[in-house]
Amino acid sequence: MKTTFFENMPVRVGRTVLDNGLTVLTAETGSAFVHAEMVFRTGGVDDTNYSGLAHFIEHLIGKDGTRAQHSLRRALEAQNTDYNAMTGLTCTAFHFDGPVEECASMVNALFHLCFGRRFKKPEVEAERSVILAEYKERWIDHAVFRIRDKMLFKEKEPWTFHPIGNEEGIRSISAKNVNARLERDYRFGNATLIVCGGVKHEVLLEEVLRWPMGGVPGARRPLPPPPMRMVGAFDESVEEINESPRILFVWGIKDPFTVPHPRQTALSFLEDGIFRRLREELGLVYSIHNEFDVDQAICTIGAVTATDKFAEASTQMSEVIADLAMNGVPSDKLAARERRWRLGIRSDLESHIGPASFQEWVGILRAMWLRDDYGYYSHDARYVSRDELQEQFRQLATEERTIIRLHSQ
Ligand SMILES: [Zn+2]
Repeated sequence: MKTTFFENMPVRVGRTVLDNGLTVLTAETGSAFVHAEMVFRTGGVDDTNYSGLAHFIEHLIGKDGTRAQHSLRRALEAQNTDYNAMTGLTCTAFHFDGPVEECASMVNALFHLCFGRRFKKPEVEAERSVILAEYKERWIDHAVFRIRDKMLFKEKEPWTFHPIGNEEGIRSISAKNVNARLERDYRFGNATLIVCGGVKHEVLLEEVLRWPMGGVPGARRPLPPPPMRMVGAFDESVEEINESPRILFVWGIKDPFTVPHPRQTALSFLEDGIFRRLREELGLVYSIHNEFDVDQAICTIGAVTATDKFAEASTQMSEVIADLAMNGVPSDKLAARERRWRLGIRSDLESHIGPASFQEWVGILRAMWLRDDYGYYSHDARYVSRDELQEQFRQLATEERTIIRLHSQ
């Protein structure tokens, strides 16, 4: 058992790796509430054979043999505690949120829900219709990214396997597939228990170690290699989706794990520039968004437009990028942005205690554990300099980019 505490954090952050391989991470915020979650390194990227399997298992873990929720969840719900779970590309997580007095029960329930589980055929069958209903309801939410990733990455790349899966995959999942995945991935060495809120690291360890632990520890599964897996730059492909037509510009990101990444600041200025020029001056686009995806090491800027404005909008977007690469951001805008950033930091510090901060803590700790890198986040990170920003604009203007135009049906 090895414990470390980290510097440069606004609250005490600790990590212990237990002898069985389970990592325990805490952020002691001193709140009256606690968020406790168990994270496994298994997700959509592991669904190469059975599309949707990681998410299917996420559902089964929350039940005990029927479609109804697990009895431990129900018992905790009576104590003002909420349960939820999520399946991502690279991990699957199960969590409880509740008052600090319930922490031991929450952690205990997580152990019982997540380890040593096996499912039988009727249990898998009972959940399949729910999964299919969710798939049908949520398919459209992911349509844009599904199409984007299919175009960007090679067909068999794990990064094209979105956690929700596809209908064929969901229908093919059996108790055998479920149990084989549980056996392989739901192991102590492939998991981390993250607790944020009003519990001290040492106190939690006592609670954790009270749980009888056995079984095979296993090891954390490696992440598939991230950066620069793009098929290549192109500028034409169009697919039909049941959504507003839009243009996406996509780039690869170098060093995606640098936090904060100067590219994020550059993207927000770019979004601002596109808003002024294409929406306010020219009326070409309606909604503009940017996305910085650490897992896939890509970033996207997208705008909703009309099909007959595709060519003009995409030319104008390229011009905004070229203009920023040439002239940068005016110094008054830079100064205003820096003032806002400093205010943001202060409000972050003031909100680092309560439940509103838990998602941020979980995000940081989860990302650190997934990469086994506990050094990249520093709360004292300085503001992105003018030169760094200019370098980002230069890269956005000169590096390979993919332009995707999506038509509506
Ligand atoms: Zn679901």
